[in-house]
Amino acid sequence: MTIRTSTLRLLLAGLSLLALFAAVAGDPPTQQPMAAESKPPRLNWYKGNTHTHTLNSDGDSTPDEVVRWYRENGYNFLVLTDHNFVTSVDGLNALHAADEKFIVIKGEEVTDKFGSKPIHVNGLNVERKVEPQGGNSVVEVLQRNVDAVRAVSGVPHINHPNYEWAITADELKQVQNNKLFEIYNGHHRANNLGGGGAPGLEEVWDVILSNGKLLYGIAVDDAHTFKQPWNKNSARPGRGWVVVRTDRLSTTAILDALERGDFYASTGVELADYQTTEKDITITIKPERSTKYRVLFIGQSGRVLKEAITNPAVYQFLGNEMYVRAKIIDSNGDAAWTQPVWLKRDK
Ligand SMILES: [Zn+2]
Ligand SMILES: [Zn+2]
Repeated sequence: MTIRTSTLRLLLAGLSLLALFAAVAGDPPTQQPMAAESKPPRLNWYKGNTHTHTLNSDGDSTPDEVVRWYRENGYNFLVLTDHNFVTSVDGLNALHAADEKFIVIKGEEVTDKFGSKPIHVNGLNVERKVEPQGGNSVVEVLQRNVDAVRAVSGVPHINHPNYEWAITADELKQVQNNKLFEIYNGHHRANNLGGGGAPGLEEVWDVILSNGKLLYGIAVDDAHTFKQPWNKNSARPGRGWVVVRTDRLSTTAILDALERGDFYASTGVELADYQTTEKDITITIKPERSTKYRVLFIGQSGRVLKEAITNPAVYQFLGNEMYVRAKIIDSNGDAAWTQPVWLKRDK
């Protein structure tokens, strides 16, 4: 197979991270195939949500109530991202954090606009509040806010591009120094699937990737409403999340793993194992009783390269795919998305 040197280096760097057994709390690791001088650290999966609101902006619950919801519902980390407000997390962590079980990470949704278009960029673990930076185009507003988040040591992610149909694929792909964007946002007006001639966010993702621009796709709640669990026309929690692979549960480890694409996004499908080698990708689903699954391996321009119904599902690289990512769909409409593996980058 043909793999360019820089790409190979990228791929191999990924392999060392992707080669361990996916262990959520207690599953045994398999062997690490990469040569290493010392025993590699054991890697674990940590479930988290990077986009949540509280009463400090337009959420309906206190930070304590919000953190409790995630803590009680099986999450390992939560980023509080109120609109243009950084909620202190020290007291919350004193109450709720537990070693290797749960942490709260501070953050902000830098809430800006261009004309009537809402331009929202999350800053994860920002050192201090970032003011909306403005700008003369959608791309400029995005870039200035991404840069401002980086300037206070935060990790940016670009939010809900289809909310009010604000951000196109062409605009997104021009933004520099940003690795993450929302391919699924749980807000009831996020328009994740597109419509009326506008592309859905997965299609947007493939357009960007096919242009040679690497972006990782995250799923988030954007939860605002914790007190109306029956109300479908509200932004409820528990709808979209990421599961991140690192050797420990810490803010730095989680954010580093997100930015190197060592995670999958989910709206309900859980993976037991996800490995990439030089030859193939193997997806092992942790099945729910009586649920059925199919795994789509997707490449350049969103083309489905293979559909598998086995578990594990394996895709063997041909070498000319440009990139391969996987989407796992279950019979109840939930999904998980793994991050693209690059085989050939044109730019
Ligand atoms: Zn927003
Ligand atoms: Zn939000």
